[in-house]
Parts: sequence; C-alpha cells; structure tokens
Amino acid sequence: MLSHNGTKVLAPVNGVATLTPDQKFFQIKQDGSWSTNSIYKFQTYDFTSLIEAFDDGALASFDINGMPLKDYFLKFKSNQNFQIVLSPFSRYQHLDFEEMILSSMKDAYVSFVDLLKTIFPKIEVHNFFEIQTLKFEHPVGIPEYFLHKQFHWDVTKAKKNLESNAILYLGAETIYHIIRKLYFGEPFTKRHLAVFLVDRKGRMDLEPRQFFLTNGQSLAFIPTNMDKRYKIASFDTVFEAIKPMDVNSLGYFNIYEHYSITLYEKLPAIRKEFSCIDCLECNQYCPTQANPFQLIKGKQEEFDKNKCVDCGICTVYCPSGIDIRKRIEEVV
Ligand code: SF4
Ligand code: SF4
Repeated sequence: MLSHNGTKVLAPVNGVATLTPDQKFFQIKQDGSWSTNSIYKFQTYDFTSLIEAFDDGALASFDINGMPLKDYFLKFKSNQNFQIVLSPFSRYQHLDFEEMILSSMKDAYVSFVDLLKTIFPKIEVHNFFEIQTLKFEHPVGIPEYFLHKQFHWDVTKAKKNLESNAILYLGAETIYHIIRKLYFGEPFTKRHLAVFLVDRKGRMDLEPRQFFLTNGQSLAFIPTNMDKRYKIASFDTVFEAIKPMDVNSLGYFNIYEHYSITLYEKLPAIRKEFSCIDCLECNQYCPTQANPFQLIKGKQEEFDKNKCVDCGICTVYCPSGIDIRKRIEEVV
C-alpha cells in the first residue's frame, strides 16, 4: 500500500504501487516473473538507495503501526543522537522470524547489520538476535514493552523514546522483509499467515500452521485444507476483541492487515459481563503494573494509562468477562 497526501493506493497481486519521481502520479508496477526462490546477492546501499529500495519494495514497519519504512527511516539522520534496536520478536506475529532469518538468510542478515552501522556510523546498534535467554511470550513483541524489559526503562520513557525517534526500532518480521528486498530482490508481496485451532472445549492448538501467501490471494483454500469441524474463523488473536466469521467467507489475503487466523470448532461464547468480584486477576497479570482494577472501580485517575501497552492480557484473564480493553480505549 502506498499512502501519499491522504490518498492510499493498494498494490495489486505481484505488484508494487509507487509515486513517479516528480511525485505527481501513482504508478503500479507488475512483474509476474518475481520468484520466491531467489538467491542471496550481496549489494551495497547508501542512505538514498536504501530509501529507494524500501519505496520500490513497498516495505512497511510492522512494529510502528504499519508505517511505510521509507517514511520511518527519513525521520532519522546519521548525525543525530539516537540508537538502533533490533528485536528478535514481532509485534503482531509470533512465528519465529529470528530462526527463519538465522537458518536460511544469515549472510544477508549480517550484511544488513553492517549496512546500518555504515549508514549511521555514530549510532550504537543494540542487536538482540542470538541471545539464547530471550524467549517469546506475549507482550514482548510490543516495542515499548520490549524496551522496558531490556533497558529497564519505565514504559512511559520507552514510549517517549519511540515517539521522539530517540530509538529506531526494527522487529524480526520487519527485518525479514527488509532482507528479502535488499539482498534477494523480493518486494513485499508475500507474508506469513499463521493458522491456530481452538477445539470445542476452548483449548488452543499452539502449534501454528504457517502459510506464505501472496497479497490478494483467495483464502478459500483454508477451509478446504482444514478439518471440517472448524467452521468459525477470526483474523484477530485471543488478546483482541474477536470478530467471528464463517470460515467459508474469509475473502482475500491483505498483506498489510492479515497475519493470523484462529479457527474455532464452535462459536466462542459471547462474553457476558458480570460485576467485578475484586479478584485482582487483572492487576496480577498486567505486565506493566498499570493498575486496570482501579479503572473498573471508577477511579480513572489511579489507572496509569501511560504504563498501559495495550496488550489485552487483563481482559483475557478477567473471570467476570469485563471488556477492560474497551474501558481502556475510552480513557486513552
Ligand atoms: S492494563 Fe491491561 S492492556 Fe494495559 S498493559 Fe496492563 S494488562 Fe495490558
Ligand atoms: S479481573 Fe475482572 S473481576 Fe477481577 S478484579 Fe479485575 S476487573 Fe474485577
């Protein structure tokens, strides 16, 4: 997708939308010869050609609200005081991109880290790849939470550093697609989709089925290839407000929005809200001690909205079915 002056253009299947050099027109490039089996080819870039490659490849950050990578990188200058953080986790996708990168794209990954150091010679690169003790557990893919944990900053400081561009933050899925474009010549036309199964007792099969799909591809193959018991689907994870739909009406794959599908054997029970029973589970499971309990008790000023990273964990654990996430949205 290309966004310019408030107008958005969605690239077609096997295509990329860009602006013409004079910035007057949108152009759509389609090339049916793009292959997914390209070989690694070392290439050098300077800042200008890197930005052009991001633009050509229609790359976006999956960590900073799907922002085009070109726009994101243009916020940083090599003589400014900022730091680069490379995270082995992704905000939206808990497939192991670190492993995918290190197992089959290691040379390209090393080239990319060297490239960052060349383009921003004065900047310190904090690379959290290949640290055995780091394990994925939601919400560690949320950038402000990752920074909070790794740098021991409070969440407010982590958010401020991201917003003020004191940190250039790249998560593993974003890095994966950058590498594919820079060293394999593959623009961003394909993305991984993880499919999870939830049985009629509500048990989730945590082993995701993983597909690498082309933008705009029909998702009709999913019910065809899955056990017919799974009739209900949702593009949202259990940590978001689930919008269930018929598994036969999934439509088409949108590369910028779709990263997982959960299939249910039966419709998840409509959450009925009961009164708060003061169990304090929400506070106990809140990873940042934002104190959501007080929000539910009507003491909005005692809920620390600056600490909230919008992870949805409090809502999932509330035994009274209170949509705490929605209450938070109303005050932030
Ligand atoms: S208040 Fe809820 S959504 Fe916010 S950080 Fe805590 S658990 Fe996550
Ligand atoms: S988890 Fe739900 S019921 Fe328990 S204290 Fe929090 S809001 Fe109340």
